[in-house]
Amino acid sequence: MVSETMLKPTVALLGLGIMGSGMARRLMSSNFPLAVYNRNREKALALQSEGAFVAATPREATSRAQIILSMVADDNASRDVWTGEEGALNGASKGSLLIESSTLSVGWVKELAAKATEQGCQFLDAPVTGTKPHAASGELLFLVGGSTDTLNAARPVFSVLGRDVIHLGPTGSGAMMKLVNNFLCGVQAASFAEALSLAEAGGLDRSQATAVLTAGAPGSLIVKRMAEKIGANDFAPVFALRWMAKDIRYAIKGAAEKGLTLPTAEAALEDFQQAIARGHGDEDFAAVARSSNGQQRK
Ligand code: NAP
Repeated sequence: MVSETMLKPTVALLGLGIMGSGMARRLMSSNFPLAVYNRNREKALALQSEGAFVAATPREATSRAQIILSMVADDNASRDVWTGEEGALNGASKGSLLIESSTLSVGWVKELAAKATEQGCQFLDAPVTGTKPHAASGELLFLVGGSTDTLNAARPVFSVLGRDVIHLGPTGSGAMMKLVNNFLCGVQAASFAEALSLAEAGGLDRSQATAVLTAGAPGSLIVKRMAEKIGANDFAPVFALRWMAKDIRYAIKGAAEKGLTLPTAEAALEDFQQAIARGHGDEDFAAVARSSNGQQRK
């Protein structure tokens, strides 16, 4: 009898951080044969006993896969896993499907797409919205750039990892949409941190002010989520502060390439950079409220 696993394409997943590790388990529980690579091998070994093949290099992971999915930190990480002698592009066979789901700059995504095409591979930029629990439960939203045919080839993977897919246009459109999305999230987060500083400086009770703001017009999903983390004094990273800063930076860069400035993004980035300088970079981005307005809070 042919098992379900034998009928599914092998997926190589590069990057087993907060998001990638949940996605890897989701793929395995949906019977996709899986090869994984992570720079820090310890994280990959945790998946070996659950059935994943642990590759020593991105190239080794991709040489046995038809679909290659990357979920790493930033442009540098993406460059590191895809390019070079032991990079994923070197192991990918002609015709394989490459999906870059990390949040990256539009410029790098387009460069990577061109490299993939040169090698006869199909490519999608498909960053996601949703966070750690959504990655683990297959409820991400994929924002896709690339051709319709390539997207259709990726649907079996997207359908186990995501609740929906939005096709935004040609290569780079998914990356652009994600940066627009996160720029707006980052600005709201920084503004909320500043709003709390003002409330406190004005003699208001912080939790009362938080209750008013979250129940009223400013109470967006991002503000509510931050208020929860701050209220629980829980800054364990679900989405690391340094990656929010990175997304705002890439949005500013993408805007500059189109002749635009994003003054609110620049101001928010300053708040995030200050928080990083104070040692909050590896905490959840809600920790921007621990260091706003020149103050350091508990
Ligand atoms: P994370 O937990 O910090 O994981 C980052 C991953 O990138 C790790 O696997 C890390 O490997 C790898 N990496 C970093 N630098 C590298 C390099 N130079 N070479 C090779 N690998 C490198 O981050 P995450 O939260 O999973 O986020 C992954 C991506 O998804 C980011 O682009 C982020 O912006 C985006 N995203 C995150 C969320 C969220 O809520 N967390 C939501 C949507 C999108 P090591 O383990 O060896 O450090």
